[in-house]
Amino acid sequence: MKGRNEVQDKYDYVFEESQAIEFVEGQVMNGENQGGTVDQLLQARIDKAEKLVPSFDAARKSLPIYACRDALLDTIRDHQITIVVAQTGSGKTTQLPQYLHEAGFIANGQKVGCTQPRRVAAMSVAARVAEEMGMTLGDEVGYSIRFEDRTNHKTVLKYMTDGILLREFLTAPDLAGYAAIVIDEAHERTLNTDILFALIKDVARARPELRVVISSATLDAPKFSAYFDKAPIFYVPGRVHPVEIYYTPQPEANYLHAAITTCFQIHTTQPKGDILIFLTDQAEIEAAQENIQETARILGNKISELVICPIRTNLPSNQQAQVYEPTPEGARKVILTTDIAETSITIDGVVFVIDSGFVKQDSYNPRTGMSSLVTVPCSRASVDQRAECAGRVGPGKAFRLYTKRAFENELEATTVPEIQRTNMALTALSLKCLGIDDIIGFDFMDPPPAETVTRALELLYALGALNHRGELTELGHRMAEFPVNPELSKAIISSEKYSCTEEVLTIVSMLSESGSLFYRPKDKKVHAEQARKSFYHPAGDHFTLLNLWNRWSESNFSQQFCYEQFVHFKSLNRARAMRDQLIRLCDIIPVQKAIAAGYFYNTATLQGDGEYRTIKTGHGVYIDPSSSLSQHLPPVKTMLYHELVVTSKSYMRQVMEINPAWLLEVAPQYFKPED
Ligand code: ADP
Ligand code: MG
Repeated sequence: MKGRNEVQDKYDYVFEESQAIEFVEGQVMNGENQGGTVDQLLQARIDKAEKLVPSFDAARKSLPIYACRDALLDTIRDHQITIVVAQTGSGKTTQLPQYLHEAGFIANGQKVGCTQPRRVAAMSVAARVAEEMGMTLGDEVGYSIRFEDRTNHKTVLKYMTDGILLREFLTAPDLAGYAAIVIDEAHERTLNTDILFALIKDVARARPELRVVISSATLDAPKFSAYFDKAPIFYVPGRVHPVEIYYTPQPEANYLHAAITTCFQIHTTQPKGDILIFLTDQAEIEAAQENIQETARILGNKISELVICPIRTNLPSNQQAQVYEPTPEGARKVILTTDIAETSITIDGVVFVIDSGFVKQDSYNPRTGMSSLVTVPCSRASVDQRAECAGRVGPGKAFRLYTKRAFENELEATTVPEIQRTNMALTALSLKCLGIDDIIGFDFMDPPPAETVTRALELLYALGALNHRGELTELGHRMAEFPVNPELSKAIISSEKYSCTEEVLTIVSMLSESGSLFYRPKDKKVHAEQARKSFYHPAGDHFTLLNLWNRWSESNFSQQFCYEQFVHFKSLNRARAMRDQLIRLCDIIPVQKAIAAGYFYNTATLQGDGEYRTIKTGHGVYIDPSSSLSQHLPPVKTMLYHELVVTSKSYMRQVMEINPAWLLEVAPQYFKPED
C-alpha cells in the first residue's frame, strides 16, 4: 500500500505485520494521472473543496447535469420519452424533477413523480430537494413509501418507491395526476421498475403530453432506447477522477474481517479522506461497527478519531443525517453500507472504498416455489460502480477484497434483472387487476422465466384469486387491495371467517418486521435473552410476536418499554403503521362496497380545480361545503354521493371516497367494458 513506509512506526502499534491484508495494484479507472502523485492531487482537491462552503444555489449549479440543463430540457420537450445517462452524483435524482418543474412542464394541479427502488433513497432525496428549494418536506416536495405518505395537495415534486407508483396504476391507470414521470435508477432493474416500464410505455401512447424520463447510472441505455421505440439517449458528461484499484493477491476467506483490517490500514497509512465499506446486510454492518469501535477504543490515542456511520433503514433519521455532515477536523469517517450506496444515495467526501465483492440477493426457485436471500458475488458492473464512489471528490483508491483473477473470470458482467430471479405472485395479481390477462405474452424488457409465471398463476389459483379460466375472482379483487403478498392477504381475508381479524393483522404486520425486532447488546446479552424469552408462547413464534405486540400496546406504545425489553422501537412503529393501514382496509372497504353496490349511479371523479364530473354522464358537480371531505387533503379522487342538491351549483351531499376499480365488481351489468 502506498505511503506505508512513512508511517511504519505508527502502523506497527496497530497490527502485527503477519495479520495485515496485502494488496496488489490493478488498473486505474477513468483515465490516467494528470501529473503529480495521486496522493498529492488528492490532498490538493480536498483542501480546495473544504474552502468552499457553497450555497444551495451554487451547489446546484456545480453539478455536472447543470451544464446540460437547457439541451436536456429541449430534448425532453421534443420527445415524449428520453433516456438520461449520467454517473452517480451528477444530479439526476435531485435535479431532474426540479428542472421539469422550473421549465413549466407541470399543468395546473399536476405534479412530477420520481420513482426510486429503495425507500431510504426516496426519503433522503426528498428531504434534500425540499432543503434546496427552501420548502418544508411534505408540502411542495414530498415522498410516499409504503405505509408513509408525506405529500399533500400542494405537492408538485413527489418522490416515491417504484412499488407505490405501481399501486397507483391500480386506482388511476392513466396517471392523470402526473405531468411527468422520472423512472430513476433504471439500471437497477428491480421487478417493480421493469413492470412500470411496460405500463408507462402503454400510458405514454394514450397521453401524448405526458413526459417520461428514464434515468440510469450505467451505460446500458441502448437497450432502454430500443425498448422505448428508439427514444433518444442523453449522455451527461461526468466529472470523474482516476481511481486506483487494488486487489488481494489471494482470495480472502473472511471478507468482513479483511474489511475491518483494511479499514485500519488505510486509517494509519493514508492521507485524509473518508472510507466507504460495502458489506451485504445489517447484521454485518452492526458486527463491523462494534468491531471497529472496540479496536479503536483499545488503540485509544495511538490513532486519530474515527467517526463510524452505518447506513441502515431502521436507524433514527437524525443518526442517518450524520452520513452527510462534514467530517470533523482531524477525524476520518467510516461509512458502512450495503449495495444501497452503490448508486442510490450519494455521499460526498469518500476517497477510499473497501469492497467485499458480495451482495445479498433475492433468489427464487420456481420448481420448489421457495424464495431465499442469498449472498452472491456482485457483477462487474456493480463493483465498478462501487469503485467509482472513491472518485467523486478527487482521485481515489478502491481496495477489492478479492483477486484480479476473480474479477476478470468469476464475476458476471451485469446483474440479472430481478424479474428473472424472483417470485411473481403479487405482481401477477396486480397485472391481472390491471386487466392484463396474458402475462407470459406481456411486453417486458426481459421476460420472466415461463416457469415462474406459471408458478405464480398456480399459486393465485390455489388461493382462490383466479378461477380455472385464469380470470380474477371476487376474492382475487379483494386480495389485490392489500399491499402485501397474496398468502398474507388471503390470511387476512380468511380471518373474518374465523372472527380473529385483529390478531391476524397484528401477526401479519409483526411478521414483516420479525427480522429486526429484537437486539442483543454485547454487555447485556443475558438480560436481552431473558427479555426475549418472556414473550415466548407455547403455540409458536407467530404467537410470540402477538405477545410482544400486546404487551407493547398495554404499555401505550412506549419507547421506554422497548428500551427495557431490548426491542427496536422503530421496527415496532413500522409494524404499527402497517397494522393501522391494514385495519382501515379491512374495516372500511366492505362497507364502502356495500353502499357502492346500491349507489353506483352517484359517482364522480375529480377534474382538477375542485370540480368533479359524474362518471357515466359527465355532469359537473361539487362537494357540499358542510362535508367532512370538502377540505380533505389531498382531495379525494373518486366520490360516491348520497344525493345532489342544486343551488347555484350542483352540490354532492353525504359523500365518501371509493375506489373506481370496485365499480365493475359491484355493478358489472352497468360498468362492464364496452366491446
Ligand atoms: P445522482 O442521482 O446523479 O446520483 P444526486 O442528485 O443524488 O445525483 O446527487 C447530487 C449531489 O447532491 C450529490 O453529489 C450530493 O452532493 C448532493 N446530495 C444528494 N443527496 C443529498 C443529501 N441527502 N444530503 C446532502 N447532499 C446530498
Ligand atoms: Mg440518483
